[in-house]
Amino acid sequence: MSILVYIEHAEGKVKKTSLEAVSFAHALSGKTGEGEVVAVALGTVSADELAAVGKAGAAKVLHSSDERLNAGVIQAHATAVAQAFAAVGAKTLVLAKSSLGDAVAARLAIKLNAGLVSNVVELPSTSAGYVVKRSIYTGKAFAETTVTTENKILAVKKNAVDLKTDGTEAVVENLSVTISDSDFASKITSTERATGEVLLPEADIVVSGGRGMKGPENWGMLEDLAKTLGAATGCSKPVSDIGWRPHHEHVGQTGVKVAPSLYVAVGISGAIQHLAGVNSSKCIVVINKDPEAPFFKAADYGIVGDAFEIVPKLTDALKAE
Ligand code: FAD
Repeated sequence: MSILVYIEHAEGKVKKTSLEAVSFAHALSGKTGEGEVVAVALGTVSADELAAVGKAGAAKVLHSSDERLNAGVIQAHATAVAQAFAAVGAKTLVLAKSSLGDAVAARLAIKLNAGLVSNVVELPSTSAGYVVKRSIYTGKAFAETTVTTENKILAVKKNAVDLKTDGTEAVVENLSVTISDSDFASKITSTERATGEVLLPEADIVVSGGRGMKGPENWGMLEDLAKTLGAATGCSKPVSDIGWRPHHEHVGQTGVKVAPSLYVAVGISGAIQHLAGVNSSKCIVVINKDPEAPFFKAADYGIVGDAFEIVPKLTDALKAE
């Protein structure tokens, strides 16, 4: 028996959220005695990169290098993962909550007759049924779901578990899958990145600006800070509505929801609709000249002062490190 983990990769690297899913599965196996953790990877990615998944707790990685799987065709991925699930005799599939993960998991729930819980924040409790805690209402509340099916799928929320890094390299084995033409009924034929910068939904650090930045001409200082930190840039809704920044940077209830390790909010008041998109961040730093700005209540660290003085000083200090 094994726990299977579906891992995602981009630009040759396994995603950190997938390594978190592997770490979660490793801890879960320790709790439920479900045996070794086996990861499944689809499409082109190097054997070295896959072997390193062992550090997060996988004993083995099954890899299908079929190039047709590179485009993230959801139905084909679901078919391949279902075959891997049967091959390793798993009862539990773990994956990262993401756009691709959610779409693949939904199809697999049907294929495997499995109970699916998404946005999982901690290991299930097994003392009275199989009870899974998950985050709901953009991180404002938790719900407990009892899974009654034999097969189970758990989609783990970003940043919800500590990343295990002390495992040993995993054995990488070829996975042979049978995928029919109907699994490719629709496929992505080309993709184009809108920006060369770090992508906002996946960023580990986000530097975000609000109306306090006064105008688009002042964004250079936030971009400089973001570049220094290796961060993506975001903004409040009015900023994208006015056209200071592109709409894909708008963070909040009606925009992108982020869950980075670090969210730096500059000149943003902290309206409830903005907080709805950022309250899953691990650490929030707020820079605002108004000490009464609501964002300070949600902040781990707050700096009261003029962004135009503080941000360049902060960037210089970070560059000097
Ligand atoms: P402001 O509220 O104008 O705040 C600017 C801040 O900058 C102030 O706190 C001020 O003290 C500070 N400041 C000014 N000058 C400086 C300076 N020199 N240095 C440092 N600080 C300075 N908003 C979102 O962001 N995301 C959403 O998804 C979203 N969805 C919404 C959905 C609905 C249905 C509604 C009704 C509203 C929504 N909003 C959303 C809007 C939200 O209610 C706020 O109006 C908005 O977040 C405010 O943006 P802001 O903080 O940039 O601007």
